Amino acid sequence: MKQKINGRLLLIALLSMGLTLLLSVVVFKTAFEKQVKGDVRQSAEVMAAGYSAHPGEALLDAYAAAGYRITLIKNDGTVLYDSQGDVQTMENHKDRPEVSSALQNGTGEAVRTSATLGYNTYYYAIALSDGTVLRAAKDTASLYLLYHWALPWLFIIVLALLGLSVVLSAYLTRQLVQPIEAMAEHFDEDEPDLPVPYPELAPFAAALKDNQLHLKENERIRQEFTANVSHELKTPMTSISGYAEMIETGLAKPEDIRNFAGKIRFEAARLISLIGDIILLSELDDPGAVRKFGPVDLLSVAKSVTEYLSFNAGKNNIKLSVTGEHLNVRGSQGLLEELIYNLCDNAIRYNRPGGKVVVEVGCHEGKVWLSVSDTGIGIPPEHQDRIFERFYRVDKSHSKETGGTGLGLAIVKHIAISHSGKIIVNSKLGVGTQIKVGFPMFQDQPAPQGKSASPADKPARSNGAQEQNGG
Ligand code: ADP
Repeated sequence: MKQKINGRLLLIALLSMGLTLLLSVVVFKTAFEKQVKGDVRQSAEVMAAGYSAHPGEALLDAYAAAGYRITLIKNDGTVLYDSQGDVQTMENHKDRPEVSSALQNGTGEAVRTSATLGYNTYYYAIALSDGTVLRAAKDTASLYLLYHWALPWLFIIVLALLGLSVVLSAYLTRQLVQPIEAMAEHFDEDEPDLPVPYPELAPFAAALKDNQLHLKENERIRQEFTANVSHELKTPMTSISGYAEMIETGLAKPEDIRNFAGKIRFEAARLISLIGDIILLSELDDPGAVRKFGPVDLLSVAKSVTEYLSFNAGKNNIKLSVTGEHLNVRGSQGLLEELIYNLCDNAIRYNRPGGKVVVEVGCHEGKVWLSVSDTGIGIPPEHQDRIFERFYRVDKSHSKETGGTGLGLAIVKHIAISHSGKIIVNSKLGVGTQIKVGFPMFQDQPAPQGKSASPADKPARSNGAQEQNGG
């Protein structure tokens, strides 16, 4: 930026210098020429009056000595006197415009350019009462002499101005840029109100600050997540190691061994489930991930997921049903399966024996809605905002006993966001919970029928732990 500003300033300086030079030369030249013309005319008038009063070549010689070329011409064009030429050899002057004009109108003037010397000569001719014409002439050679003299000075002045412009523009640029640099230096400080040097920069600075805060927040969340993950992984590992040690050292009675093996399997299944969720979340976190989005029939996906979960539901004596219309949303089938799976899995795990889970797909207010309702324990209002945070659980032991990882709803939220979806939670403690996700309508409705999701490609959020728990 500095270079650019500096360059522009210099360009402006150069341009204005060039223009000034050019204009002053033109103005100077015009004024000078006007002055010469006026001089010649005035002098010619004075000379004509003087000569009429006292005719004689001596007077003409005196005039010529004042720097004019003086010519006296007879009315037939013959040159009678010329201060610079030989009268004998001079051609007839009758046709010279200034002379013929003077013979006709009393006065005449003309400008002629000397082809060889490149300067102008001004002529002014006046008809005298005796019939002759007196002509005075002066050339502008002096103007070129003046240029000649002035040129080195002009050159020096231009150089000096150039140097001054370089210094000034560097200084001005620094003045302009320094506050911005100062602002950039203060950017890392945790001050919310950053001094912004120019009002035009305020939105830019605000956006940058926002971005920076966002990055910091992300960094904090990441660190917290890493700490949580380590903690979550350590607990099952510790129990696995404990049970294994008891078997190894013979501390476990032979009849306990089967039970311990079951517990080891349960903890291992929890680890697998947790790692599966972490992998999925990190994939979802990857901003560069390319996902193939296409039309997905939500009802078909819901049906295949509930089919997959029906064993689990039955084991807990929970009635699982799916209703609604076949509606397409634009998305990834695998991710939408994961979303529905997590919601249904929660609805079963936080239900009561004999309870119900209803999955519904419908269209309302220009959105395709997926709703999963249960008749379970409900979520206390003060926790409803936070259940989508990673590892946030209302009741830690209940979550763990039922094989929860604490990441299910975080994944749901992530998938919903990547599908431009919106989540609504309705829950009443002791009555039940409804979680709704609204997706933008897919343009090419109705959906192709009979498309079914294959539970086989469902990302691993193994319900092995839950089976273990139940058995
Ligand atoms: P978890 O693996 O612990 O179930 P989630 O992210 O899926 O983790 O859910 C976060 C917390 O939200 C759960 O621990 C639970 O307390 C609460 N929760 C989620 N779904 C329901 C539901 N359907 N009914 C009651 N509580 C729920």
